[in-house]
Amino acid sequence: MKEKLKRSEDEWKNILSPEEYRILRKKGTEPAFTGNYVDNKKSGKYLCAGCGEELFRSDSKYDSGSGWPSFWEPVSEEVIEEKNDNSHGMKRTEILCNKCGGHLGHVFDDGPRPTGLRYCVNSASLKFKETKNEQE
Ligand SMILES: [Zn+2]
Repeated sequence: MKEKLKRSEDEWKNILSPEEYRILRKKGTEPAFTGNYVDNKKSGKYLCAGCGEELFRSDSKYDSGSGWPSFWEPVSEEVIEEKNDNSHGMKRTEILCNKCGGHLGHVFDDGPRPTGLRYCVNSASLKFKETKNEQE
């Protein structure tokens, strides 16, 4: 079991930008095609904007056309928590950072091989860290 990071709502408000707070803590969604990382094709790591945990890598990012950064797998299954989300009249699976509980987006089963999954993530939930070397 990984250690969880707990902060009060006031602490989160101080740490996060208003947009990050709205998305990570209030389960908001950024408008499609507005996020910083939709078209980011650089090599690197995508960290949780709330706690810095490494969640995704550029080598599993692909262009889904959805308007949000999309990945076909996280760095490991244990960094992501999944929850059923029946809001807005839809049956979806919410994805959260397993360390800080920050809302990331949703996972859908219409992704590419080999997983067939599409992790659809808000740019505001992520912090990109460029690496010179994919193996880093
Ligand atoms: Zn986190």
